Amino acid sequence: MLQYLIILLDDTSTSFCHYKNLKTKQCLIPIETLRQGIRFGMMENLMIQFVFPDCELPQEHKNAIETIDHSKIVSSLCEDNVLRADADVIVYHDWTELSFGKFENDKSYVLRTTKDDFFDRYHSMKDALGKVVRLNIVLTDVEKFDDEDFAKYKQCLSQLSDDMIAIYKEGKSPQLNILTDRLMLDGMNNCNAGSESITLAPNGKFYVCPAFYFDDEADSVGDLKQGLDIKNRQLYKLDHAPICRHCDAYQCRRCVWLNRKTTLEVNTPSHEQCVVAHLERNASRNLLASARKFGEFFSGKEINEIDYLDPFEKRKEW
Ligand code: SF4
Repeated sequence: MLQYLIILLDDTSTSFCHYKNLKTKQCLIPIETLRQGIRFGMMENLMIQFVFPDCELPQEHKNAIETIDHSKIVSSLCEDNVLRADADVIVYHDWTELSFGKFENDKSYVLRTTKDDFFDRYHSMKDALGKVVRLNIVLTDVEKFDDEDFAKYKQCLSQLSDDMIAIYKEGKSPQLNILTDRLMLDGMNNCNAGSESITLAPNGKFYVCPAFYFDDEADSVGDLKQGLDIKNRQLYKLDHAPICRHCDAYQCRRCVWLNRKTTLEVNTPSHEQCVVAHLERNASRNLLASARKFGEFFSGKEINEIDYLDPFEKRKEW
């Protein structure tokens, strides 16, 4: 069932996930389209997430946005200081900006990074982790991981786990998606684009998620006039994902856009996405064991030891 409507307010709205937004020419959502989108969200009882561009919006757009409950996703580079202060999610695209970031407890932070930047700079994350309530790391090139990268990622997660322990000992308990989400989950908590969320673009058309719009505007799944028209909608659901439905890397984004890009099927993940998610899962398991050496930690939570990093290897057992 749909729960979320993501509204891209402009063609230059910030990316907050794996995809790149290469559009540089502003194309603001027309005010009537924005109002119709908000009406659609209200009629369908959806929680609306507005994704902002870096430039300031006209006042009538700001007024329309405030007519409904919503959350705001804003880049750290946004020129509108008032908006940045009011944002629910702040997206960093650069490690240097993150290191100068001023963090507030009522916000979540996202850092989009390539794997190589992550390997080079991850040790500088400890400072930010001591100040945030939640930091999400988004790897923008998961599909490029190779065996050497997997080994590096495992080592980075192990070091970050030690950093988290040090921070816990200071009495703080920040969330870092790649290490702590799995500790808090008892079932799959994926992105669920096309199943639980849908995106409205400035052109008045719906897309499975922003990545589908920025990849190909012709790839729409309906519009505000005709309504949603998602072909083979069941394929976006977990129970029609033959590999994922057997998996317990509950924190995995299970990105359907990455799936389609890498395997040509929205419900079939790439080897890289699965191994990265399992390295995180296993690092969460190790973090749990380490944290319990000095105190009560996620009482009752257990993460089993497993002997694979890609569930595809286990398909004959299902
Ligand atoms: S790790 Fe792989 S199988 Fe598991 S949820 Fe993620 S994409 Fe699906």
